[in-house]
Amino acid sequence: MHAPAVRLAGVWKWYSGQQRPAVRDVWLEVRVGELLAILGPSGCGKTTTLRLIAGLERPDAGSIEIAGALVAGSDRFIPPEGRGTGLVFQDYALFPHLTVEENIAFGLFRLSRAERRQRVEELLRLTGLEPYRDRYPHQLSGGQQQRVAIARALAPRPSVLLLDEPFANLDAELRQRMREELRRLLRELGVTVVLVTHDRDEALSLADRVAVMLEGAILQVDTPERVYHEPKTREVARLLGQANFVPARVVGAVGRSDLGLFALEEGRNTAVEQVELLIRPRDVVLEPHSDGLGVVVDRRFVGAEVVYRVLLRCGITLETSQPPSVELAIGDRVEVRCNRARLAAFAGSERIGLAALLERVHRSAADSVRSSGPRDEAPAVSEAD
Ligand code: ADP
Ligand code: MG
Repeated sequence: MHAPAVRLAGVWKWYSGQQRPAVRDVWLEVRVGELLAILGPSGCGKTTTLRLIAGLERPDAGSIEIAGALVAGSDRFIPPEGRGTGLVFQDYALFPHLTVEENIAFGLFRLSRAERRQRVEELLRLTGLEPYRDRYPHQLSGGQQQRVAIARALAPRPSVLLLDEPFANLDAELRQRMREELRRLLRELGVTVVLVTHDRDEALSLADRVAVMLEGAILQVDTPERVYHEPKTREVARLLGQANFVPARVVGAVGRSDLGLFALEEGRNTAVEQVELLIRPRDVVLEPHSDGLGVVVDRRFVGAEVVYRVLLRCGITLETSQPPSVELAIGDRVEVRCNRARLAAFAGSERIGLAALLERVHRSAADSVRSSGPRDEAPAVSEAD
């Protein structure tokens, strides 16, 4: 096992005059060759974390290692140029008076003329910037500027590339395309990357692992699938996307909800308790059913799919995206069937796992969850049985 590309251990950063620390006890390991995305809302400490790794800020506590070498600690601080990191700023920070070629060559002052020339050619080729080598930044599109910034950061062969909100300055259409291009480029280069973003689609689609950050702290580090479907806390669940929480009552090893009966993961205690199932918009299938426990209360066409709001008997309104083949009208009664083999549920702050659906529940089923859920919003129609 070789050392992680970057390791942060108990890192704190408290800007003077601020009421809260910008970075709060962060422990994080970035593996060699991976693309790790730090995802969090604006102001949560993402840029500060990158600046700490790059050496543009000093931690108030904790230590930072890069490729196994201590670069910041209680009595050690290696300045940026000695760290082997390449930072791409949010606004790219290209030198306006230098051409593309000169921008890329900027950090290569230690190389001989011939070596420098060779390295610049290599990067122009890799990033597809050869035709633009003599242009100045203002003569380039946003996407091209971004590639120059990345080429400049990569030129000195950093052990880790740090990208701050790489798509923030691009318009929505370009963003999608650039994301694909950047992914291809970074995979080709095989370079270790830490990318920070507030855009969850970006983090989920680009990263090997996602570190979810909130108020200076890292709440969870996991694969995109796991942070999305198995968030450790409700906060993480909400930060990752639309989340519905449907109440279920647990008796013994069985959870009962308006989506049906579920088996609990083995080893759970058998005390009766109230849990909430995390349901993502595409986690359920709607089917017309006269005895279903849901009623369609809203329908919104959004192009590729239709977003339905379904009022469940427990009083929760579930928001779900359905394919166009599902044709329902407001007022239709539906069965809400879970289409995932495993679901996350929360009991208090603790997450528990739920296995596959055992059985469906219909209006006629005697023991409903109605008694345990909020019912103020439940309309007359749900009382029809
Ligand atoms: P993000 O990149 O996630 O938007 P930042 O790391 O830029 O967050 O900021 C984290 C917090 O630290 C914010 O509350 C911000 O206002 C504050 N902050 C950032 N830079 C400075 C600074 N140089 N001086 C004082 N406060 C700062
Ligand atoms: Mg920032």
